[in-house]
Amino acid sequence: MNIGIVGLGLIGGSLGLDLRAMGHQIWGVSRQERTCQLALERGVVDHASVNLKLLAKTEVIFICTPIAAIAPIVQQLIPYLSPETILTDVGSVKQAVVEQIAPLWSNFVGGHPMSGTADNGIEAAQSNLFVGNPYVLTPVETTPAVAVNIVEEIVRTLTTKVYFCGPEEHDQAVAWISHLPVMVSANLIDACMSETDLGVLKLAQLLSSSGFRDTSRVGGGNPELGVMMARYNREALLRSLTSYRHNLNQLIELLEHQNWQALDEKLHQTQLQRPEFFR
Ligand code: NAP
Repeated sequence: MNIGIVGLGLIGGSLGLDLRAMGHQIWGVSRQERTCQLALERGVVDHASVNLKLLAKTEVIFICTPIAAIAPIVQQLIPYLSPETILTDVGSVKQAVVEQIAPLWSNFVGGHPMSGTADNGIEAAQSNLFVGNPYVLTPVETTPAVAVNIVEEIVRTLTTKVYFCGPEEHDQAVAWISHLPVMVSANLIDACMSETDLGVLKLAQLLSSSGFRDTSRVGGGNPELGVMMARYNREALLRSLTSYRHNLNQLIELLEHQNWQALDEKLHQTQLQRPEFFR
């Protein structure tokens, strides 16, 4: 199949490596010449250009740029597409993207691979990034079934677990498991660094081990991604954050009132809930 990829970074580059290894012809477009060159050198694509015209003969195009660039790219792509061309994206937020693209191109299937690393750019692209991980597709009423089936077939070959849901549901779910944890973890780092006794702060640094490393990891990631989550998934994230604040207030109250029994019950409950959640 002739597959196009716009945005040859971590996700676009990793898709290119896997799809090309399966025998597809990969046509890649990125913003910078240097990225196109690296993509060719690394075997991510068969053909590369900074010009969207390169994708005129492709059957399916994955748009793998930052979210803000997705809709403008679709607008620029349309003059080069045949009506059968299928577009899909990999943006981490779906409602804002689907609402913008569906009216522009009916053969569009929203998508989100639940895979990533802390690094970005073409250098970070790697084979088998998606293996074993969920890949969400968010078709809407107007999405043609043929387009959904073709995108599903391609992403299944990456050995992903494919899930279907509405864009709004997707955004609320990722607010809980991805966007809220980033905000909570960033706030943890910020609160810790606000310790005014520099001796205590230094000691905390020296004593910190795997627990703090784990809980601070997602808060110490790419700030651009964090802002993108807040900006494009504002409502769902606010809903999760507000609920989190409510829980935090309850926790503070338990400590203020030295209600150790209630705290014990709460922690027993979360101890049971965690394995249940991941089952
Ligand atoms: P990335 O590594 O920074 O790659 C994005 C690439 O897009 C860059 O390499 C850049 O290319 C290119 N680009 C930017 N603007 C462009 C434009 N106007 N035209 C053409 N190419 C353009 O980012 P990423 O982590 O792969 O994320 C890409 C998308 O995947 C985002 O929408 C994100 O929400 C989604 N996503 C990310 C993760 C994750 O964990 N990182 C997981 C799932 C989904 P140049 O190098 O040429 O400038």
